[in-house]
Amino acid sequence: MAGEQTREEVAARLEAIFSSALEGEELEQALISIPKRLEKFAGKWLALIHWSEVKYGKPEDDFGLTPVGQLRSEKELEAIRGTSNEFLAKEAKIAAFSRRNYQSGHNYPTNQQKENSWQKERGRCVYCRKRRFQVETSFWWRIFPNLEVVTACDACAEDDGLVEEEPSESQRSSRSISQEVRDEVWNRDKGKCTECGSNENLEFDHIIPHAKGGANTYRNIQLLCQDCNRRKSDNIG
Ligand SMILES: [Zn+2]
Ligand SMILES: [Zn+2]
Repeated sequence: MAGEQTREEVAARLEAIFSSALEGEELEQALISIPKRLEKFAGKWLALIHWSEVKYGKPEDDFGLTPVGQLRSEKELEAIRGTSNEFLAKEAKIAAFSRRNYQSGHNYPTNQQKENSWQKERGRCVYCRKRRFQVETSFWWRIFPNLEVVTACDACAEDDGLVEEEPSESQRSSRSISQEVRDEVWNRDKGKCTECGSNENLEFDHIIPHAKGGANTYRNIQLLCQDCNRRKSDNIG
């Protein structure tokens, strides 16, 4: 019951939540606000704690993430108390697995690829994982430095250029790579084969083959020497 929590317990819990998520001036302001919050939420302290955990993350576990941005009723809170870490983890995972982010030139990740990525990052965005704020994650192909499926929030995926615009019909049907992309790739790969480091007989290679829908974009092109490129073609068949 909500009434069984003492004012001190609730205040201490809020302090722990704020301290794990905020710092500096922001933290100070949040700590100062605790007495006011306790008054405003009089009789609904469990809801206040839950709201804070949703907004700032739980202080001691890895799954302070939840797609639920609203207060629960006291009854619902009772129901999830005690198992709430597991509950929130489950909610976040189901939400991540149901989001579908298609990227041009890629197959949709298999469930096993998603599962591996989820386990590796423990459900957190691979980029901003240090933050305890709520983020909604989903799965993206990251090409550089290695082709892999990563767990990331939309904002970070966009920041790292994982969100690609759909290629136009002419780009899709053309094998030609623009001079701009060639220059960028050349600089990124430092004028060397990305497999063996050779700087002779270099070619621009589609990481996802053009025939399989790979785009003529910076992220899908790499430098390979002729030998490595042949070897790759032989393997793909
Ligand atoms: Zn992120
Ligand atoms: Zn090579």
